[in-house]
Amino acid sequence: MKFYPLDFIQAKKHGRAHSADDIDCFISGVVSGKIPDYQVSAWLMAVCFNGLTFKETLALTQSMANSGKIFRWDKKGPPVADKHSTGGVGDTVTLVVAPLVASMGMRMGKHSGRGLGHTGGTIDKLESIPGFRTSLSESEFREVVDSVGCAVCGQDESMTPADGLLYALRDVTATVNQESLIASSIMSKKLAGGASYILLDVKVGSGAFMKDLESAKSLSRLMIRLGRESGREVKAILSSMEEPLSRAVGNALEVAEAIRVLRNEVPENDPLRILSIEIATRLGSMCGFGRIGQVRKQANKLISNRSALDRFREMVELQDGDSSVVDDPEKILPRADRVVKVNSQKGGFVKSCDALQIGELVRDLGGGRKSKTDEIDPAVGVVLKKRVGDSISKGEVLCEVHTNGAIGDASVKRRIIEAFGIGKRPSAPRKLILK
Ligand code: URA
Ligand code: CA
Repeated sequence: MKFYPLDFIQAKKHGRAHSADDIDCFISGVVSGKIPDYQVSAWLMAVCFNGLTFKETLALTQSMANSGKIFRWDKKGPPVADKHSTGGVGDTVTLVVAPLVASMGMRMGKHSGRGLGHTGGTIDKLESIPGFRTSLSESEFREVVDSVGCAVCGQDESMTPADGLLYALRDVTATVNQESLIASSIMSKKLAGGASYILLDVKVGSGAFMKDLESAKSLSRLMIRLGRESGREVKAILSSMEEPLSRAVGNALEVAEAIRVLRNEVPENDPLRILSIEIATRLGSMCGFGRIGQVRKQANKLISNRSALDRFREMVELQDGDSSVVDDPEKILPRADRVVKVNSQKGGFVKSCDALQIGELVRDLGGGRKSKTDEIDPAVGVVLKKRVGDSISKGEVLCEVHTNGAIGDASVKRRIIEAFGIGKRPSAPRKLILK
């Protein structure tokens, strides 16, 4: 059978459905370089206008997963779980969940990404720990998972090469935001990661890809179906990304905050703690560890008795990081030259704190990337001293900004003031977990 890229583009331009074989030929041509970028780009744009059916999206997902190495875990060991967040600000959940699920009796060997734009990446965060290696050989990675129950490494170049190529083109052709393209990108990587139990954390709100609940629900239904049709157990949680999840935003600051959660030093109503425990609980229940209530109780216990912290310490140790970071994060992690306090110009109640604006500020301080090759500054970021719902008086500290001077202090202060909404009366509490 001969495959003609021009006919393939033409078919999608006219809204016709592709066969699974044609999609597979297309993906092979993308990976081998036989189909030039301009033809791939034209097809991506045609998909944005005319969409893909479920069958096409499934074929695309599986072809992308099969474009590189697929991880296989031996079936005899503990259940292999994975989680994925569609991206947000202050979303440090993986750093808490990986050691927590390991202490609950699951395995989590995670391939994570770097941050791009206003959202952070787990790999960048972990690399702020002195010595920590995120580039592991397959045998090293397996050894850490076997010994600790969890490991986090960077995306292996030999896994889902098709996604890397398509994503880079989507990024520069305004074709990122198409549901089938997002779902196949995420699910191909999850399938290649090899876990049997997958929990998707779909973010909704100003700091997320999906700005409203309906589009987030639709994306999560599609991803669940793609995973199930591919033989995996998949569930989704929908969570709010209106305000940053963690009170700390910035690479080293988020590591320190995750450690505070694992040291049981944050209050029980802390959003990062709540969402991490919820995700670990749902995974435990999917793996058959008991009823939700029981599993949640166990997850809480493993935080309060510091079992999960011990797993984190061991993982850092085996990935060559300075594991005393768990005892004294402030001493071990890089620190910015200065901490600028930003005071509220009004009294009242915090009504909103825009995750997107905070994420962009941290990026501009040097904590994130505008393009893929930018170096990041691990030390900078924002620590929120007030969260949505808190009362504040005029002149009280809203946040502390850790800066090395990449942007002027006056601009930092103005942007923080703009990111916060302060009202006279407290607003009704917003839900963190939407479904
Ligand atoms: N995250 C991904 O990995 N891919 C997308 O397309 C969007 C978010
Ligand atoms: Ca060591």
